[in-house]
Parts: sequence; C-alpha cells; structure tokens
Amino acid sequence: MSEVLPVRSPEPLVLEGLPVRIDPDEVLRFQGYKKGIDVPTDDVMALFDEALALGERLMEPRCVYRAVPVSGQEAGHIEAAGEQLRIPHIGRLWGALTSVGAGVCTVGQPLEDRVRALFDVHELPLAVMLDSVGSAAVESLAEHVNDLLCQAAIAEGIRVTNRISPGYAGWDTAQQRELFRLCPGTSIGVALNEACFMTPVKTISFLVGIGPEARVDHYFTQCRRCWMADCAFRRAPAERTVHR
Ligand code: SF4
Repeated sequence: MSEVLPVRSPEPLVLEGLPVRIDPDEVLRFQGYKKGIDVPTDDVMALFDEALALGERLMEPRCVYRAVPVSGQEAGHIEAAGEQLRIPHIGRLWGALTSVGAGVCTVGQPLEDRVRALFDVHELPLAVMLDSVGSAAVESLAEHVNDLLCQAAIAEGIRVTNRISPGYAGWDTAQQRELFRLCPGTSIGVALNEACFMTPVKTISFLVGIGPEARVDHYFTQCRRCWMADCAFRRAPAERTVHR
C-alpha cells in the first residue's frame, strides 16, 4: 500500500494488500520461548519455516479504519460520535485530542481453518506453530497500520498516538461494542459476538488518539518498534522485534 492514508477519514476505509512482516522472535514468544534465555532447536526452526510458508500462503491481511472528532475528554474518558470510551488515565497518557481513530485488523479465516484441520489430524506441533504465526502476523499488521497513520499524520502537521485495545491497560473488554459502533468490522469479514469475542480470532481492534497536541512516546518510543525505513520523521532507530 503506497498511497498516503487519510488519517481523519470520516468514512470507514478498507485497506488491503498490506505487508505482513513476521518476526521469528515474536512467533517463538507465543510458543513460550523467552528471548535470550530459551534457544530453539533446529527442529523447532524447521517447523517455524514450514508454518511460516504455510501461513504466508493462507493469510488475507485486511484492515478497516475510520476517524471521528472528539466531543469531550476527561482524565479517564473520551466522548466521540456519541460513544463514551472509558479508558483509565487516557487524558494524562494521550494529552489533548481532536479526533480518535478506530480500526479493526485481521489476517482472515483460512489460516484458522487450517490450524483446526491440522488439530483434527493430530498434527499438533505444526498446528500450534501455525497458530503462533497467525498471532504474530496480526500483531505485525496492527503495528504497520499504526505506523502508516503516524507517518501520514506527521505530514499533515498532527500526531497519532500508540494504539490501545479493549481488554488491555485497564480498558474494559466490553467496550469492544463501542469500538465496533465507531468502526464496524463487517466490511472485512470480522464479527463481534455477545461476549465481545471477535471472529476470525486472529483479529486486533484498536483505538488511536489524533491531534496536534496528542502525546507520543509516553509509553515507549514509537519509532523503536516502527519499520518505516523511509520515514523522514524518525526519532529513534528501529529495533528488530515488535514485542514491547
Ligand atoms: S519512524 Fe517514528 S515517526 Fe516515522 S512513522 Fe514510524 S513511529 Fe512514526
């Protein structure tokens, strides 16, 4: 995807053809390996290569994104498009916002169907490794979209914060409903059920803050985990892994 993203797009925008860069460290972390402590054997790395090749054939990376103006903001609360987003400490963390951007990223159903099929025929090591490849892929996808938004915003003289998701950092998982009302996942085949569980499972929903005074780097230096090689605004060198 080479065109510049409209960071404040009022209409849901479907992004396809996005690159996914699978980080082996990230996949192994999902497998329970601790970086710098646990060393994978050659057999494990061969299994990783097999799962990676399979995953790259099966994944269908897509994202839908929409921005809405912020109509009210307090220490732990953002109001936008009639939705009340209750996120602990968000006022201090993100600073003053003019808009928020809501997005849903997925690597699609076929990868998960193959994981299930592998379990059914008791190919457990490959099934589990492919599942981890899918988890790393959707993490990479969400990071990439966050980076695209960051880069496009800077060119417009505004800033985009790090992404957050319901269920993390004290934000109630039940607020997936509010997030999906801001940006439904249906256009990319993502459904949300009554229990706020998304399908396909390898899906990440997220919120970012937008505005000229939006705070970045409060949690980690965003550029350190950003692979935008051609970014003229980089503040720190990129690290190899997306793991925070
Ligand atoms: S390198 Fe830094 S400024 Fe550039 S897009 Fe990535 S996070 Fe944003």
